[in-house]
Amino acid sequence: GVPITLHILFFRAVASPPSSNFLLLGPSGAGKTAFTTLLEAKSSLSNTSPSTHTSQQSTLVTVTLPPTVPTGSNRYRSVNDPSLKEATRNPIRYRVRDTPGHGKLRASQGISELQAMSQSKDIKTKLRGVVFMVDTAALLDEATLRDTATYLHDVLLILQKRAKNGSSSKRTTEIPVLVAANKLDLFTALPPGAVKEKLESEIDRIRKSKTKGLLDASADSGLMDDEEILGNDDQEAFSFKLLEHEVGVKVEVVGGSVKGDPQEELGSGVRRWEEWIGMCL
Ligand code: GDP
Repeated sequence: GVPITLHILFFRAVASPPSSNFLLLGPSGAGKTAFTTLLEAKSSLSNTSPSTHTSQQSTLVTVTLPPTVPTGSNRYRSVNDPSLKEATRNPIRYRVRDTPGHGKLRASQGISELQAMSQSKDIKTKLRGVVFMVDTAALLDEATLRDTATYLHDVLLILQKRAKNGSSSKRTTEIPVLVAANKLDLFTALPPGAVKEKLESEIDRIRKSKTKGLLDASADSGLMDDEEILGNDDQEAFSFKLLEHEVGVKVEVVGGSVKGDPQEELGSGVRRWEEWIGMCL
């Protein structure tokens, strides 16, 4: 009867609290809503009905990690491992906050969500990682590339400020970023390596013009606010590797597709992103 079902649901909720949060950012049209919907559909949480998503609002969903995806704390989980049985019975849950990527809503929702979540000390809202989704078939367009890189630059600058303000002993708590290079199923898609290079060189350009602007502004005052500059302030070209080295913020570009080949297993095009998420858990 009903009381038993409720009891089981309650027990499960207590047994595995979804305390790991991930923030989904990226420009509008990248596939964030489609990704969230897919994660919900393939989750083994039968007690929740999929929520309705629009690209205008931020939504928070609880989903599960497929049992065969290893986690950071359980790295060597194999098919023969008894813990796999346990993972199947009681899947690892995590939460994803989807945010609108539209230019106007970005500052008010995506960026402010990142600021709030990355500062949170509450275990329930603590941010484990940022998934920044890009449309690999749209990056050949100059304006789209600039828009995407500007958004990513702003996200990385927030994480850099957070990293620099924290004590050096807490290095391991830096929030990592996954650049999810989506839509690899399209024949016009750029491969992940090219996506990485394009984003790095565009961010370098943004950083240079920002530095110049700040230098010009500081010519009178004599003060230069290098807090506002991403990466180090010497002349070296920007790269994600450099950012990791200098600041400790890790950025990884990994390809995939939400709407893959229908022949493929449901959601297999997002497997490597789930593996990245698993490593953060
Ligand atoms: P959002 O604005 O980032 O939430 O983007 P949406 O999730 O609304 O996706 C924008 C469009 O891209 C939709 O028409 C999706 O069906 C499509 N889309 C999302 N992922 C993929 C993918 O992996 N491949 C292809 N071909 N289309 C995709």
